[in-house]
Amino acid sequence: MLVLVINCGSSSVKYNLIETDQERDVCKGIVERIGAVTSIIKHDQPGKPLIKDAKVITTHSEALQAILDFLLNEKNQIISSPSDIRAVGHRVVHGGEMFKDSVLIDDVVKDAIEQAFDLAPLHNPPNLKGIEAAQERLPGIPHVAVFDTAFHHSLPDRAYLYGIPNRLYRRHKIRKYGFHGTSHYYVSRKYYSLSGINREKSRVITCHLGNGASIAAIKGGESIDTSMGFTPLSGMVMGTRSGDLDPSILFYLVEKEELQLNSLHSMLNRHSGLLGLSGYAADMRDLIEEAKNGDRRCQQAIDVFCYNVKKFVSTYIGVLNGCDAILFTAGIGENSPMIREKSLEGMDGIGVEIDPERNRGAKPGEITKISTDASKTEIYVIPTNEELVIAIDAAKIASASGQSPWI
Ligand code: ADP
Repeated sequence: MLVLVINCGSSSVKYNLIETDQERDVCKGIVERIGAVTSIIKHDQPGKPLIKDAKVITTHSEALQAILDFLLNEKNQIISSPSDIRAVGHRVVHGGEMFKDSVLIDDVVKDAIEQAFDLAPLHNPPNLKGIEAAQERLPGIPHVAVFDTAFHHSLPDRAYLYGIPNRLYRRHKIRKYGFHGTSHYYVSRKYYSLSGINREKSRVITCHLGNGASIAAIKGGESIDTSMGFTPLSGMVMGTRSGDLDPSILFYLVEKEELQLNSLHSMLNRHSGLLGLSGYAADMRDLIEEAKNGDRRCQQAIDVFCYNVKKFVSTYIGVLNGCDAILFTAGIGENSPMIREKSLEGMDGIGVEIDPERNRGAKPGEITKISTDASKTEIYVIPTNEELVIAIDAAKIASASGQSPWI
């Protein structure tokens, strides 16, 4: 089934046209800088040169139209009619407590996504804008919302409740939600199918290490704990996000630096993490380069990042009462042998042994086992594919077959 996957940010629309039966990208691309003087449009068709264009695009709806114009252009031989697209899958970051699974979008679903605006002010509003724009441009096609939070709905209350007055949970739904759910789901399922392990008994730790980073403990196929929380700000140190910190620091800063709420928000979300620690860059490749040149703060940022991975992994080994596999994914997890090695070094005492040669030999885009044969816990690099999960869920719901065809 041909499914269009849409991922809308505040000034961008990313898309993937996916043939779900063959799990194949037909075409993908992005419209960036919507609302700026000129927007940039990129289309990437396998086997063809990347197409780059600049245009005036002021709304998400116009961005969707530009994407459809490209897909429908006879020259590109992609689709001949909008009805060739059988479903549209939308990435929605926050599903609150309401959405435990992907859903067909109707007015009630849209209202619920809007109700979660306060929980994800940077993400849910543009996600809803994208849904409305796509419904306008592609009417009569099922639109499906796939939530980043849904896979973590299985967290037990002991893992999702914070140690604050319980009425705040009841009144405002302040609790841990967890994110990157489609990625944790995808790599864990890939591991089950490649290892043939009995899923019911399996204990897996997934490390999604990209600009945003989160780690999840998955028992019997269900997420039972994860590092991100009420919002994607908590847990690990990330590219520009602080991750966990003592909340008293905020009161202290308000007093000492007379910071307003919006400056605190911006500091923690945009100027902290690897960028804040190094004072140089949020991008791991840049940090690795500068650390090699002897920059101490870049090295410290890398050290903190890897120590964060180690702490969450070690905690989750305890939570799971042992671990069958640790799976690395996303930009850093898939591409940096050094970060993987440093994160898991000195853990042979608890049965985790990375094989330096296998680790360095892992090729980008390929699934690779990187643990030693003696390691009690297997370690793998598994490239993620969140768009495929969204496409398959959308196809499943659109055709009401009841079960993902690829599990
Ligand atoms: P997101 O989707 O969250 O924006 P990605 O999953 O694309 O992020 O990951 C981006 C991160 O991956 C960046 O920090 C980038 O430096 C890092 N990365 C990509 N390739 C490499 C590499 N070869 N070595 C180290 N880090 C890498």
